[in-house]
Parts: sequence; C-alpha cells; structure tokens
Amino acid sequence: MSASSDVLTGAAEANGGAMGLQKNLEGYVGFANLPNQVYRKSVKRGFEFTLMVVGESGLGKSTLINSLFLTDLYSPEYPGPSQRIKKTVQVEQSKVLIKEGGVHLLLTIVDTPGFGDAVDNSNCWQPVTDHIDSKFEDFLNAESRVNRRLMPDSRVHCCLYFIAPSGHGLKPLDIEFMKRLHEKVNIIPLIAKADTMTPEECQQFKKQIMKEIHEHKIKIYDFPETDDEEEMKMIRRIKDRLPLAVVGSNTIIEVNGKRVRGRQYPWGVAEVENGDHCDFTILRNMLIRTHMQDLKDVTNNVHYENYRSRKLAAVTYNGVDNNNSKNQLTKPDTPDDMSPLAQMEEERREHVAKMKKMEQEMEQVFEMKVKEKLQKLKDSEVELQKRHEQMKKNLEAQYKELEEKRRQYEEEKSTWELQQRILEQQKLELSRTMEKGKKKKIF
Ligand code: GDP
Repeated sequence: MSASSDVLTGAAEANGGAMGLQKNLEGYVGFANLPNQVYRKSVKRGFEFTLMVVGESGLGKSTLINSLFLTDLYSPEYPGPSQRIKKTVQVEQSKVLIKEGGVHLLLTIVDTPGFGDAVDNSNCWQPVTDHIDSKFEDFLNAESRVNRRLMPDSRVHCCLYFIAPSGHGLKPLDIEFMKRLHEKVNIIPLIAKADTMTPEECQQFKKQIMKEIHEHKIKIYDFPETDDEEEMKMIRRIKDRLPLAVVGSNTIIEVNGKRVRGRQYPWGVAEVENGDHCDFTILRNMLIRTHMQDLKDVTNNVHYENYRSRKLAAVTYNGVDNNNSKNQLTKPDTPDDMSPLAQMEEERREHVAKMKKMEQEMEQVFEMKVKEKLQKLKDSEVELQKRHEQMKKNLEAQYKELEEKRRQYEEEKSTWELQQRILEQQKLELSRTMEKGKKKKIF
C-alpha cells in the first residue's frame, strides 16, 4: 500500500484551539502526512496476532490453520498438536512469521490438544482460561515497567471455537466453554468439516446453534457497527452466516483447469475457497483483511480492561495484592460472566462483612485481655499482701529477738556494773587496810 495522494493534498483542517473553531488552511503545512508516518512506523515494527483454536481433536483445527495462512505450520514431520500430545488438556503455542508485500505478521497459534477428549471433561477449560489470564498478567507487568517501549503483546486476540458437525446442536461442553471464556476472549464459533453436511442441513444447524447461543446468553465476538453503508452490508452478510461453516484441506486439486485447495470425493470436490461450498473465505477475510485490528482493539479495550479492573479492584479493596497465584484472578466461586462493576460491588460487600467480623473478634479479644489483666492484678495484690504479712512477721520476730538480746545485754551490764562496784569496794577496803598496816609499822 502506498501513500494515497488525496491524503496528502486534501483539505487540511486545524483545530481552533481554545475557541474550538474549525479552520480550513489555505496552504500545505504537512501534517496531512501523519497517516503515512503511522503507516511506516507500523510496517517497520510489524504486526502481532494471536489466534487460539479450541475443539475436540480430529475436528480439523490444524488443517484449517494451514489453509488459512497458507503455511505448513503443521506438516507430516511436525503434525498438529492433537497427534503429538496425548489426552490431557494442554496449551501449545506455535509461532510463525509471515511476510506479504513487505509487511511482517508474527502469528501465534495457540492450540488446546486434548480439549473435550476425556470421559470426564469437567474443568477442561481451566488450562485455557489460565493461559489467557497469564498472557494478560504478562502484559500488565510489561505496562508497569519503567521502559514501555518494547511491549510484546502475546494476549489472545481471537478464539476459533470448533463445533462438531453433529446436526443436532451445541453439546453441554460447548456451552460451558463459551460461557466460561466469553468475558476473556473474542469467540468466533465455527462449524467444523462443513462438507459432511448438505447445504440445507448446514443452514438448519446454524439456526439451531445461534438459537442456543442466544438462549444461553453467550457473547460471541460482536462485529462493530460503522457509518459506512458498504461496510455495514458486509458485516450484516457475515453476521447472517454465523456460525461460519468451514472446510479445511492441505491438498491442491485441479478443478476446471484451476488449482484450488479442496477435498476430493468420488461425487465431486469440496472447494475450501468457494463461497458456495463453505464460509472459509469469509472467515479468512474477516480475520486477516478486515477485522484483525478490531479483534485486537476489543481484546485491549474490553477483555484486558475487564481483567485489569478485576485485578486492581482486588488490590484496592485489600490494601495488598491478595491474588494468591499468578493466574487466580477471580475468586474460585465468582461466576465468570459477572460484570466488573457487579464483581467490585460484591467484593465491597464481602470486604464490609469481613471488617465487621474482624471488629467483633477484636472486641472479644479486647474483653478477654482486660479480664486477664484484672485477674493478674488481683493475683499480684494477694501475693503482695502475703509478702507484706510475711515481712511484718519476720520483722516482729527480729524485733523480739533484738529486744531479748538487749534485755540480756542490760542484765549482763548491770551484773558487770555490780561486780565492778563490788570490786571497787573491795579495792577501797584493801587499800584502807594497807594504809592502816603502813601507819602501824611507822609508829
Ligand atoms: P485436529 O486434531 O483438530 O487438528 O484435526 P486435523 O487437522 O488433524 O484433522 C483431522 C482429520 O480430519 C484429518 O484426517 C483431516 O484430513 C480431516 N479434515 C480436516 N479438515 C477437514 C474438513 O474440513 N472436512 C473433512 N471432511 N475432513 C477434514
């Protein structure tokens, strides 16, 4: 695609700024070239698209992918995941870089081998929802990094859901899967192996499926409304043919001298790209030519925003991110078809109830603690009283003992004083007697 000349020379309009006036510029300033700048940048960067295919094995998922992108993404040496991986649901990614007219498309195919193949298929959508959520989580993490220049986008932009051509209607698993996933990804329902039905049967089957989809309030990818009459006609044509009935083939057959992809039967050829035989061309056109960007926009603006608001609500209400595991974003008992607002309201109610319960518990704990403290105080008062009594007794005993000692001392002292006095007396008498003896000797 080259820059169209009328983009460059068309009447340029400038916004009148604060006055809100629309001005028609006389001359050429150059910003009419903006679309080309965007175009060049986009082409240089290349495009990324992630397509998920889900359905029981053998419904022709690998064959359809090969037919859609004209690549041998799956070949005899590298067969489709259904033939490589055995019967538990797994999620398998394959990447292929496709080039066309200098434009690069990095296509990621996410297959879910084993889906619906077990006897008990309960929860077989879990690995698929986990994968989608983990890709949203990766993107959210990349968004919160400082350097956001290189943000690989591996979010799942579209999910082709393959319905078995039973002619009866949807199976319970089909309904359950689509209900579980419709808030997370753009679902496009497909009738697999449409060449196994007559056109009347196929028409009837489509009506039945759409009736059930409406009855069960399943939200499949909603084609955007536009003002362009031609585009609206095309969208109405696609909508009328939903679910798209597809045929896939890896074989090239010659029909009327033309080489076409198709399936050869003894009674004729089912041509993949023939609009009278199936809706393959409609699917390819809408997926690649007309609606790839809208699928990416809806993924970003609706599904990713839902995921983000759920995630942020969990963080805001609890103060911390209490999403235990990387992928467990909604509570296990939260229905997936709940709108983010209803979910936020539900979480708010839960939070208030939790706070009330915590308050009651805290009051109980407080009362218990007060009781414990009072008991402790009482105990220590009794203990102190006892100690006081004991000390008083001890002191009294000591006092008595001292009194006794003092009495003994007083007694001893008075005895000693008496003895002293007697001794003094005796001494005096002795000295007198000696005086007298001396005087007698002199005379
Ligand atoms: P997957 O397990 O869903 O990936 O299915 P495959 O792509 O491996 O196809 C399983 C078988 O179905 C192969 O034998 C295919 O040739 C065949 N097949 C694939 N697409 C169609 C189709 O549109 N119509 C019919 N009749 N057979 C198909």
